[in-house]
Amino acid sequence: GLTAGIVGLPNVGKSTLFNAITQAGAESANYPFCTIDPNVGIVEVPDERLQKLTELVQPKKTVPTVFEFTDIAGIVKGASKGEGLGNKFLSHIRQVDAICQVVRCFEDENITHVAGKVDPIADIETINLELILADLESVDKRIDRVAKLAKQKDKEAAAEHGILVRLKEAFEEGKAGRTVEFTEEEMKIVKGLHLMTTKPMLYVANVSEDEVADPSENPYVQQVREFAAADNAEVIIVCAKIEAEISELDEEEKKVFLEELGIQESGLDQLIRAAYHLLGLATYFTAGVQEVRAWTFRRGMKAPQCAGIIHTDFERGFIRAETVSYDDLLHYGSMNAAREAGKVRLEGKEYIMQDGDVVHFRFNV
Ligand code: GDP
Repeated sequence: GLTAGIVGLPNVGKSTLFNAITQAGAESANYPFCTIDPNVGIVEVPDERLQKLTELVQPKKTVPTVFEFTDIAGIVKGASKGEGLGNKFLSHIRQVDAICQVVRCFEDENITHVAGKVDPIADIETINLELILADLESVDKRIDRVAKLAKQKDKEAAAEHGILVRLKEAFEEGKAGRTVEFTEEEMKIVKGLHLMTTKPMLYVANVSEDEVADPSENPYVQQVREFAAADNAEVIIVCAKIEAEISELDEEEKKVFLEELGIQESGLDQLIRAAYHLLGLATYFTAGVQEVRAWTFRRGMKAPQCAGIIHTDFERGFIRAETVSYDDLLHYGSMNAAREAGKVRLEGKEYIMQDGDVVHFRFNV
C-alpha cells in the first residue's frame, strides 16, 4: 500500500502525533494483510458515506478502508552528508509516497527547541535543505551519462536530460523538485528518478491547545501557509497534544470533546484526509448484506484494476462492473429503485472508476 512518512526536527511533536495515530489505530483483526511494524501506524479513513451506506443496507459488517503512516525519526543537520543517522533517515524517506512534515508552531518554555527558538520556516528549511542536497547529488550522478545518450539521438534520454536540467536548476536555487511543473508524461520519468523533493509534501503545523480552534492569531501558521504556497505543498493545523487525548476516547466522547473545543474535525482525521488527497487516492464501495466496505484506489484506475484490489481473480476474470454513484444510490434509497431510474450502469474494461462509485463486480472464475 501507499504510505505517508512523518518527519520533523526533534521536539516538534512527531511522537505525540504518531502515538495518537497508533492509539486511534485500526483493529488489525480486520486487516490481516497489514504488516506489524512498530514504525507503521494504520488508521481507518474517516468517511461518512460509509455510515450512510450501512444505514441503508444494514449489513452484518462494515469495513472502512485504511491508510498507513510511517514514523521516520532522526533528521539531523548534515543528513545529506551521511552524518549520524542521516543516511538511514534519507533511505526511509525514499521509500514513502508522501511526506508529512510536523512543524512546531507552539510556544512552550518547558520544551526545548533544538535551534533555540520557535521558528517554523527555519525548521522547514533545515529539513528541506538536506533533502534538496541529497536530490542534487542524485541528479548530478546521472546527468552526464544521460547527456551522452541524448547526444546519440536516444529520445528517452533526451527527455530525461531535459528534466534533470530543470530539476538541477531548481535544486541549485534551493527549491524542491515539486515546485517544477511537469507534464503527465514527464511525471512518469520523474517518478523513476526516486527523488525525495518531488514527492508530495504536507506541512503539519502543530499549534498549542488554546489556538487550535482559531489559529488565525498564530503568526507562525501564516508563515507556514505562505511558505507552503511557494513550495507547492499543503498545510493542515493540529494540536498534537489534543490528538493524543482524543485518541483515547470512543466515537461518542470524541464528538462531545471536539464540540467543546469548537473544532469540526479532529486534526488526525484532517491529516488522514489530506494525505489521502495528496496521494491521489479515492474510495469506491461494495455494499452487500454481508458486508459494506470501502476500498482505496488510485484516481485514474480502470474497473478491472479496481476489482483486482479485492481479489486478483476479480481482475483476471473481469466481465463488467455494475455501478451506481453514491449520490444516486442515496437519492433513490435502494439498488432496485436506482436501477428502475436507470442510474445503475454496466461498465466495461475501459471504465475509469470514480470516487464514490458503489460497485458490484461480475467476473468469470
Ligand atoms: P518529537 O521529538 O518531535 O517526537 O516531539 P514529541 O512528540 O516527543 O514532543 C516533544 C514535547 O513537546 C513533549 O513534551 C510533548 O508533550 C510536547 N508537545 C507536543 N505537541 C505539543 C503541543 O501541541 N502543545 C504543547 N504545549 N506541547 C506539545
